[in-house]
Amino acid sequence: MIAPTALFALDTLLTDEEREIRQTVRRVCDKEIRPHVTGWFESGELPARELARALGGIGVLGMHLDGYGCAGLGAVAYGLACLELEAADSGLRSLVSVQGSLAMYAIWKYGSEEQKQEWLPAMAAGERIGCFGLTEPDFGSDPGGMRTTARRDGSDWVLDGTKMWITNGSVSDVAVVWARTDEGVRGFLVPAGTPGFSAHDVKHKVSLRASVTSELVLDGVRLPADAMLPGARGLSGPLGCLNEARFGIVFGAMGAALDCLETAIAYAAERQVFARPLSSYQLTQEKLADMALELGKGLLLAVHLGRLKEAGTLTPEQVSAGKLNNVREALDIARTCRTLLGASGITLEYPVIRHAVNLESVLTYEGTSEIHTLVLGRALTGVAAFH
Ligand SMILES: Cc1cc2nc3c(=O)[nH]c(=O)nc-3n(C[C@H](O)[C@H](O)[C@H](O)COP(=O)(O)OP(=O)(O)OC[C@H]3O[C@@H](n4cnc5c(N)ncnc54)[C@H](O)[C@@H]3O)c2cc1C
Repeated sequence: MIAPTALFALDTLLTDEEREIRQTVRRVCDKEIRPHVTGWFESGELPARELARALGGIGVLGMHLDGYGCAGLGAVAYGLACLELEAADSGLRSLVSVQGSLAMYAIWKYGSEEQKQEWLPAMAAGERIGCFGLTEPDFGSDPGGMRTTARRDGSDWVLDGTKMWITNGSVSDVAVVWARTDEGVRGFLVPAGTPGFSAHDVKHKVSLRASVTSELVLDGVRLPADAMLPGARGLSGPLGCLNEARFGIVFGAMGAALDCLETAIAYAAERQVFARPLSSYQLTQEKLADMALELGKGLLLAVHLGRLKEAGTLTPEQVSAGKLNNVREALDIARTCRTLLGASGITLEYPVIRHAVNLESVLTYEGTSEIHTLVLGRALTGVAAFH
């Protein structure tokens, strides 16, 4: 028997350092996350602060950024960390993606030196948590329609509006909020506790339950002039951050798929049906072989895109291709694994159904599968079909 990832000798594409980072993240997941994650999922409660400190301790928060206490590692190393985190739970990878690739990246890329010094080292250490507020109740796929405004009042800014579905929202020390101004969309750093700013958790989720998802309300939030991110003007600011986070999902989704496939292979070997192991039937083997193929291809694609990112040539269309393909295939793998587990597949005793329902969120956030399809359609035809 060989492991699903061994089929394509994926390890031969990785450096020693990348393999070590992957092992380190896996060890922390095994010790700090896997024993508890089903309980967090079931209760819908996450010890986000403790987790952020543990993850900061191994350097995965903003690990692909340089300076300010960040590890400055390559794209593939970051992707592998996402893979291991998402093999534990997509909610944990979401915490890390939003912290590192959305909130920290926005400050790192567009912030002033003072903003970077104030926030990045503490966020890299997991002492402070950030969130990223772009989506609104009426504008998700089309953020250009946003209604949140920031208007000048003397040298201050005053923000009004509502952001929706914001990961880490109520546990954040700082929210990166995107708002419409006279000079186009601009980003603002809103510290928790600022008068007029509040976060309310979304209840009754059946997906990403081991993740905090909140509504942010901005009601006359007054901020000093230096709360604005000076380097971001227009929608390219937030879209640049999303591209970073999507890259992590290309790897992460394959982590969830891998955990499902490993679970299904072990289950099929043990489970007796009609007096023989489930794994001995051709129908089962066809399912396993097909899943191993898609997993292997998805991982190869992820590493390839990672190397392009490291070379500085990765395009947004390539990230869309990776996100679209790998999340779609991961969801397919999770559903097929669920069938192999039969009735047991619907319980939280096994991780498969948890991954499957989590991946429904991953399919939607960071650009829905339809939007990424339209991005590829535009690239192939030269015609934008969004409107
Ligand atoms: C768990 C979770 C966490 C999230 N975290 C964050 C976060 O931290 N920060 C943040 O800003 N946002 C976050 N989001 C929001 C997420 O990015 C949006 O949900 C997503 O962009 C889709 O927006 P929507 O839900 O408003 O759907 P809509 O935009 O209303 O889309 C509804 C459907 O219409 C389709 N559609 C839209 N436009 C077109 C078109 N032109 N042609 C064909 N079909 C189309 C979509 O693909 C989708 O199927 C999160 C969402 C979830 C579920």
